[in-house]
Amino acid sequence: MSFSKDVKDELIKLVPNENHCRIAELSALFSFYAKVEKGPEKRVYFSRDNSSALRKCFTLLNKTYNIVTDGFRENEEKSKTPVELNGKNCDIERILKDLSLDAPLEILNKDCCKRAYLRGAFLAAGFVNDPNKGYHFEILSDDLEKTKLLTYLFSLFNIIPKHSVRKRYNVTYVKESESIADVLSVLGAHKSMMELANARIVKDVRNSVNRRNNCDMANISKAVNAASKQIEDILLIDELVGLDALPDNLKEMAEVRMEHPESSFSELGTFLDPQVGKSGVNHRLRKISEFAEDLRNERKTK
Ligand SMILES: [Zn+2]
Repeated sequence: MSFSKDVKDELIKLVPNENHCRIAELSALFSFYAKVEKGPEKRVYFSRDNSSALRKCFTLLNKTYNIVTDGFRENEEKSKTPVELNGKNCDIERILKDLSLDAPLEILNKDCCKRAYLRGAFLAAGFVNDPNKGYHFEILSDDLEKTKLLTYLFSLFNIIPKHSVRKRYNVTYVKESESIADVLSVLGAHKSMMELANARIVKDVRNSVNRRNNCDMANISKAVNAASKQIEDILLIDELVGLDALPDNLKEMAEVRMEHPESSFSELGTFLDPQVGKSGVNHRLRKISEFAEDLRNERKTK
């Protein structure tokens, strides 16, 4: 499976509890993926060649408007005809009014909704490269106004994407590994963000070995193994019980470690608020490891 597909699978499972966020995400899915026929008889078509977007539309429409159309049933995914929403199978007028497709910013007042909108746009028309091969994240759109909107929304989260034109598409893209990690975090793909961080450690260390040929190889590989083990522990905690299960100071430590996989203990300490020294960082990371170890043991005894 590709990394892009993994990220999308993670995002499909993320279903916002709040109505406003679901509507924001649907608005992006409709705008970047569905085909909306406006005329007096309104209809919306969902092609079947983007199963991630189709599945997410299905889940969100069902949860928000209680819509279950035959076409959305998963066992019909092999069929080629697009799924259709119209005045007969739902209150299409109301849905289109809620989604505010012509002026999406009107429904994107809250940060949670801005994230949801970007998530919908990525599921609809996005791609992210496997971090072991190179760093590239993009969202395509058929309309320059949509590209401008994405750029604006990303900039509110301190991410500045670039823009290019490929065939008939406008491409909003990000190239730097740290910015891509930020993007994944904004979208809510935390597990994938951690995978990217892990790939980055390996790459960074390889580079630093190349830079400092005469440095102590044994120390480097020790540092990498320790960092990978910490990342593995944090991933496990996140997967089994969520990072919120950690006390606040450990949760902060875990997040800082994930964001700076290549940093030394003293550097990590400077990213904490308030800052702590090397031994404080060591202490917290050890606590996190113990926490993960307990979860591992619990899992074994079940
Ligand atoms: Zn919201």
